[in-house]
Amino acid sequence: MSKNYNIAVVPGDGIGNEIVPEGYRVLEAVAKKHNFGLTSKTFDWGAGYYLKNGKFLPDEGLETLKNFDAVYFGSVGLPAVDDTLPAKDYTFKVRTTFNQYVNYRPVRTYPGVQRPLRTEKHIDFIIIRENVEGEFVQMGGQYLPDEANGMGIDTSVFTRKGIERVAHFAFKLARKRRNKVTHITKSNTLINSLSYWDRIIGEVAEQYPDVVHDQMYIDNCTASFVLKPEVFDVVLTTNLFGDILSDLGGAIMGSLGLGGSGNINPEKEFPSMFEPIHGSAPDIAGQNIANPYGQIWSAAIMLEHLGEVEAANNIMEAIDKSTSEGVLTIDLGGNAKTSDVADAVIKNL
Ligand code: ATP
Repeated sequence: MSKNYNIAVVPGDGIGNEIVPEGYRVLEAVAKKHNFGLTSKTFDWGAGYYLKNGKFLPDEGLETLKNFDAVYFGSVGLPAVDDTLPAKDYTFKVRTTFNQYVNYRPVRTYPGVQRPLRTEKHIDFIIIRENVEGEFVQMGGQYLPDEANGMGIDTSVFTRKGIERVAHFAFKLARKRRNKVTHITKSNTLINSLSYWDRIIGEVAEQYPDVVHDQMYIDNCTASFVLKPEVFDVVLTTNLFGDILSDLGGAIMGSLGLGGSGNINPEKEFPSMFEPIHGSAPDIAGQNIANPYGQIWSAAIMLEHLGEVEAANNIMEAIDKSTSEGVLTIDLGGNAKTSDVADAVIKNL
């Protein structure tokens, strides 16, 4: 009997409402071709929901999501809503509650897409960003903020358990690829938290003697992403550095709209969540011009996580065929509409 997957669809705000339905259309087409079932329910959560209801999702929202195999997500945030809320009240909540401690963000060359870099070399690496600890735990406070001696403090938290588990994920992933992990810190200046990170990554690395282990500081890494991106295979880093590096990863591919990602709970105790690396881009929303490739790629990452590897590969091949045929959105220098891209990918499956 063929399998069936139950997907929670959360388009969110802005272009999420355009690219998520197009991505889901691709998912339905690939499911039909590869003979598995998909059922879904769409939730209107996000900043728009907050403006009407005072919260990003209903109180029972997270409990509801637990009944699904995965969450297919767009992005949350609107200019009219305080920009500290989307992360605090939706994204971090889902990532933390569902122990999605791996943020999986691949970067690669898309055929036919012009890149801002001079190198012609093939780029293919995966940023593994620790997703629930570090600089984004939102512990701290502001003291006397209106006074001349006011201050703001955020505390970074790194635990042995948190570092070890994401490191094991990265080293195992490298074994399925080109056997190299580069871990990124700034332990020469963050001498407590990030040197602890270095030490524990070093201990984990010893358990994978077949994997080449390299270390770089974040400043050198950003330069290397631009000057020699072909040297990377698996890039392992903290929450904040991974956030910044993945936008740079999107940029070196040719557009932020090209990057897909997964917030993964590797043990599958809870649903994982799949989303493009960019935000809700309200500046271009409502025009059917947003680039959906990253959203479609996120669907492939979701299928891979669910075990439908052939279907995931099929989506990636269809994406490559579409970009090489010149199906490019405005941000890529073309004139394809959002829906044209999904049509092309479906045709090429
Ligand atoms: P967040 O912090 O939520 O990631 P952001 O403030 O970084 O969001 P984005 O929404 O990612 O901002 O948008 C940054 C820029 O990239 C905007 O000019 C936006 O139009 C553009 N952009 C983002 N996603 C896409 C896309 N899919 N297609 C085309 N342009 C995009």
